[in-house]
Amino acid sequence: MRIYVHNAKVVLENGILWNGVILIKGDRIEAVGKETDVPCPADARALDAKGAYVGPGFVDIHVHGYCGTTLFNEPLKVANHFLSHGTTTILVSPHYKLTGPEYIEAYERVRRAMAEPTGRSIAGVYMEGPYINPKFGSGAKDNQWKDTIRKEDYESVVDAAGDLVRLWVIAPEREGLLPFVEYARSKNPSVRFAVGHSEATPDEVRRYKPYGLSILTHCMDATGQTNTWRGTRGCGPDEACFLDRDMYAELICDSAGAHVSPQLCRLILQNKGLERVILITDGSAGNYKAPERFRHLTDLSINEEGELSGSRLTMAQACRNLMTHTNCGIAQAFLLAARNPAEAIGLGHEVGTIAPGKKANLVLVDDAFNVQGVMLEGDMVPRQGE
Ligand SMILES: [Zn+2]
Repeated sequence: MRIYVHNAKVVLENGILWNGVILIKGDRIEAVGKETDVPCPADARALDAKGAYVGPGFVDIHVHGYCGTTLFNEPLKVANHFLSHGTTTILVSPHYKLTGPEYIEAYERVRRAMAEPTGRSIAGVYMEGPYINPKFGSGAKDNQWKDTIRKEDYESVVDAAGDLVRLWVIAPEREGLLPFVEYARSKNPSVRFAVGHSEATPDEVRRYKPYGLSILTHCMDATGQTNTWRGTRGCGPDEACFLDRDMYAELICDSAGAHVSPQLCRLILQNKGLERVILITDGSAGNYKAPERFRHLTDLSINEEGELSGSRLTMAQACRNLMTHTNCGIAQAFLLAARNPAEAIGLGHEVGTIAPGKKANLVLVDDAFNVQGVMLEGDMVPRQGE
């Protein structure tokens, strides 16, 4: 059975194809082109996009949960919530407060969810930790991993991770970190690393590049810098990312610019370009009442202390905010929300753009990024309430 998506503004990597069509066979894209060049085959079912923009399904590599539900406790529930909002590839981020056995349990839950027909959007785990710097918003009080790094603590967690974990977030300034990184690489040579919740200097960050460090976790959030002279500004992970052209910067783009101000969003984009910025939701389970000044904002997540703790964003909302805070348009937003994250985690050959041979993961949006429809591997996803 083939599907012929027509009457669409197809968002390609290099621009928009007006009056475009996408031909889908099974779970893959078979052809893309203008309506005049790719006629509807006799055996295909026509799907009218009604003039919507049809872009690649969003790829969100950094999500913890939403509204009281964590992704590692209830992976299917949370993944399906985000799927209905256009995220067709999602990585599960367990909380950095977990113990070793809890991480291992979480991996098992995620593996079971991935085996379900409705769990196909889950592409693995994004480990925000365990060896990050408790000084920077990673639970100084109850973080189990803040003391000496010892093989007997991490060995079973790395072993159980197998190739499920696509990425570990590290704070390169942590003493004794290198053997952990080497061990994780030896168990999964394709695993990658990100620097985050850290105050590492650019030199300390650079040291891990040969081991696959290629991403900065939520740029301009939960990072510090060490002053070298009194009254001067030091360099930290954000500067390390700016200095290294290859490194990706994750960006939480909320409506108020609470995580990253509009000016900083523009600075990040100016520096990293359209090739190296990744939109993330950092979707979080925090479900507490926001302080007065944030009460009107629905895309922030607040923890029990009344502090900002991730977001309630969807990727579509993040794209809309990006267009508000910067001069990006729809086609650019899709690069940051689908292509770049897919490439950053090694899935660029499968997802992230609309091209023949790739998975038929699509999201239909109007010009204000309201999601009109979602397709996962050739199947339309049932719509849910907001
Ligand atoms: Zn974080």
